[in-house]
Amino acid sequence: MKNTVRVRFAPSPTGYLHIGNARTALFNWLFARHNEGSFILRIEDTDSERQVHQAEELIVQDLKWLGLDWDEGPDKGGPYSPYRQSDRSNIYADYTRKLLNEGKAYYCYCTPEELETSRQKMMALGQMPLYNGRCAHLSRQEQQALENEGRRPSVRFRTSDSSVMVKDLIRGEVSFDRKTIGDFIIVRSNGRPAYNFVVVIDDALMEITHVLRGEDHLSNTPRQILIYRALGFEPPQFGHMSMILGPDRSRLSKRHGATSVVSYREQGYLPEALGNYLALLGWSFPDEEEIVSQEKLIQSFTVDRISKSAAVFDLTKLNWMNGVYLRDANLSRITRLCFPYLEKSGYIDQKTTQEDGKRLEEIVASVRRNMSYLAQIPGLTSLYFEEEVPIEEESRPWLEDPSAIIVIEALQEVFANSTEEEFADIPALIKAVQKKSEQKGKRLYMPIRIALTGKTGGPELIAVFSILGRDRCLQRVRWVLQHKGNGKNCE
Ligand code: GLU
Repeated sequence: MKNTVRVRFAPSPTGYLHIGNARTALFNWLFARHNEGSFILRIEDTDSERQVHQAEELIVQDLKWLGLDWDEGPDKGGPYSPYRQSDRSNIYADYTRKLLNEGKAYYCYCTPEELETSRQKMMALGQMPLYNGRCAHLSRQEQQALENEGRRPSVRFRTSDSSVMVKDLIRGEVSFDRKTIGDFIIVRSNGRPAYNFVVVIDDALMEITHVLRGEDHLSNTPRQILIYRALGFEPPQFGHMSMILGPDRSRLSKRHGATSVVSYREQGYLPEALGNYLALLGWSFPDEEEIVSQEKLIQSFTVDRISKSAAVFDLTKLNWMNGVYLRDANLSRITRLCFPYLEKSGYIDQKTTQEDGKRLEEIVASVRRNMSYLAQIPGLTSLYFEEEVPIEEESRPWLEDPSAIIVIEALQEVFANSTEEEFADIPALIKAVQKKSEQKGKRLYMPIRIALTGKTGGPELIAVFSILGRDRCLQRVRWVLQHKGNGKNCE
């Protein structure tokens, strides 16, 4: 009797970790951790044509970045090793022989062209294009004759007549008519075993108790159940999660924007935010809370809350969620994470001193409430780094009002007459400008903001004053007065 939960994530190393696969990995991981079971990483690399160099490494990197860890895997070993399918060929060969010897599989000598012709014929007759069974009962002599023609056989699984019922933890009972499943290939003519065959052997030998994966694999499941039966293995429990859709409700793809975890990582999404977002994509937290820590997710993760209906990937919501995490995270961590973006824009270089670090923290703190992801940092902080700050289009009408000029003139005077010490008391400076210009509210603050930043929105004025310092503030105000926002840049 299996009683400890054992689940696995079994990516094929064909490219970057896709958002959908990351969610599959996360759900399996949460399920394992919730049940104090084991989470296993297995690399499914039997399909050599589709493989991409280094993809395994990239997938592993992204899983680790998301904070997922595994108890057994190619890099860790474990009691059921090896965990990379390309290292398990002997095991698959043994089971192929077993099925052949028991007559549960047979050699098929049909060429791709012959199979295609038969397919076309069946379709023309309005039949399901299943394998026609031509090689199902060949004698040894007939096989030999075909081999002598130079044909290399594949191995086909002999399907039985009963229909197959999948008891799915998410979708309920799904029945598959036997007539829709023909004898299928388990070892290709090039000797490589097929996914449906090896996945069963691995899941059975690794004592996997639950297979949670994407709904796109549901149609594979009856074939896999037939192999479980033929090999005398007990099938695990299956749960097929609905697909992730784009806003137009078609399956999430590149057409909808970034679909790989690495692109979100590069744009500056925090792993805990992406993890939180993915956890709620097709699974609901009991309290309908949205910002949920990893510990809380583990505590409450049960399969019965996985949704049957498709989840729509909503970038606006992810941006909102990432923004919340960015605001609440440790400031020096966020500042450090901003370095590469600031470096790339030429705003800082590699010789950032401790003092610069403090100043950068102040800069990041002033804009982080306006940030959805880290790659936005150069745009949000250009006002501190650029010598030239353009007056934006929407700021110009403000400067056409004579009262705005009065405010900015007062600002110039207050700046020019303030000592360094006086400049440090920013509320007092603003009060002085208010008194001199006799303006208040927006009519006071907006011209000040525009004179210093060129924009109508942005960081708190106090932060802008303090980060820019007296001399640069004065320089900007003088420039605006000279040009009255005629569209040129502040120099
Ligand atoms: N290698 C398969 C994939 O990446 C795994 C499917 C499964 O979980 O059985 O889609």
